[in-house]
Amino acid sequence: MTSTDPYLTSRLQGFGTTIFTEMSALARRHDAVNLGQGFPDFDPPSALVQAAEAAMAAGHNQYAPGRGVPSLRQAIADHDRRNYALDFDPDTEVIVTTGATEAMFASVQALVEAGDEVVVFEPVYDVYPAAIAMVGATVVGVPLRPVEEAGARVWRFDPDDLEAAVTERTRAILLNSPHNPTGTVFSTGGLQAIADVATRHDLLVVTDEVYEHLVYDDERHTPIATLPGMRERTVRISSAGKTFSVTGWKVGWACAPAPVAAAIEAAKQWITFTSGTPFQHAIAEALSWGESYTAPLAAEYQARRDVLIDGLDDVGLGRTSSTSTYFVTADVRTLGFADDVDFCQRLPAEVGVAAIPCSVFHASPEDGRGWVRFAFCKSESLLAEGLERLRTGLPRMARSAP
Ligand code: PMP
Ligand code: GLN
Repeated sequence: MTSTDPYLTSRLQGFGTTIFTEMSALARRHDAVNLGQGFPDFDPPSALVQAAEAAMAAGHNQYAPGRGVPSLRQAIADHDRRNYALDFDPDTEVIVTTGATEAMFASVQALVEAGDEVVVFEPVYDVYPAAIAMVGATVVGVPLRPVEEAGARVWRFDPDDLEAAVTERTRAILLNSPHNPTGTVFSTGGLQAIADVATRHDLLVVTDEVYEHLVYDDERHTPIATLPGMRERTVRISSAGKTFSVTGWKVGWACAPAPVAAAIEAAKQWITFTSGTPFQHAIAEALSWGESYTAPLAAEYQARRDVLIDGLDDVGLGRTSSTSTYFVTADVRTLGFADDVDFCQRLPAEVGVAAIPCSVFHASPEDGRGWVRFAFCKSESLLAEGLERLRTGLPRMARSAP
């Protein structure tokens, strides 16, 4: 996972290959069921594919405007008003990007100076530390830890740790809720604590909400921009990849107050200039489907979540609750394995399943030691096959555990 490529700049030394690429390559090599990298193995809605085909046939094949095609910016503004009563001006406060990944990268490029500090919650999605390093700023981690809450085991941070992480050099807090890899939605109290710190220290909050429609049971997702005083200091990022099962289309966006949005656009124009035109037209159409599309989507994912957690419980893997995203985290130490990275490197060959080790999402891997992420964005038959392999293979692997 670390790299010694002599051509690689010092900024990028140590990041190596993404864990998702590494584990998917291992899965392919061993013909393993890939419960690692989070991408659906099923098709997106056919109406969406037809909308993209129609956009291409209608001649939407050249550069889009830098900020995105007007119909998509309008659809994003309508979506946020309808779902969260958030008012963004589609002409000045919405920037379409090449996935949420570019929205995050361009936000950091635009808003963070070399030498600044940026607070993240660990385990942290791997893109954020890399984006922060590429701008020459420093990552400061605040730990999420599993705690018992109302009969569930969820991941929470201690507000004192957040307060302690902020210095006079802190520029921004990067927040991901619903949270990858834990499957936890930040609590109202947690969001309020972040808002309090951001307001008191005059910080920007860049929030990655790509799993906003993948929320289960009676959990609710609240964009932090809806909290008092937060809209003017928040960049709200989302993406079509998860909501419409098109992770390969890479259509994302950032919504922010006009001057912040202008700064993000200024960065984006030098990164990709514009993003895939026909896909933007198709997503503009899909965003208008509203709850008649997102409610059944969440119900289907909740059923898949149930299949996965039942299977993990069956094999005796201690796990936390998952009320969002398409992930469940489990502690492999409950079956006698000492190390998550070693576990995930052996699992494809010895059991025929791939998963993601979570210690790589920490600046100090020791902080995440033992935790592994399983994805359930897979067809029922693939999930069943993966779980059957775990049921028969894991006890064998445990007997030879180091
Ligand atoms: N943020 C999070 C938290 C993710 O899990 C992912 C990956 N699926 C992304 C961003 C990437 O989104 P996109 O593919 O739209 O760039
Ligand atoms: N976001 C997806 C995941 O967490 C994968 C993205 C990637 O491969 N970089 O699994």
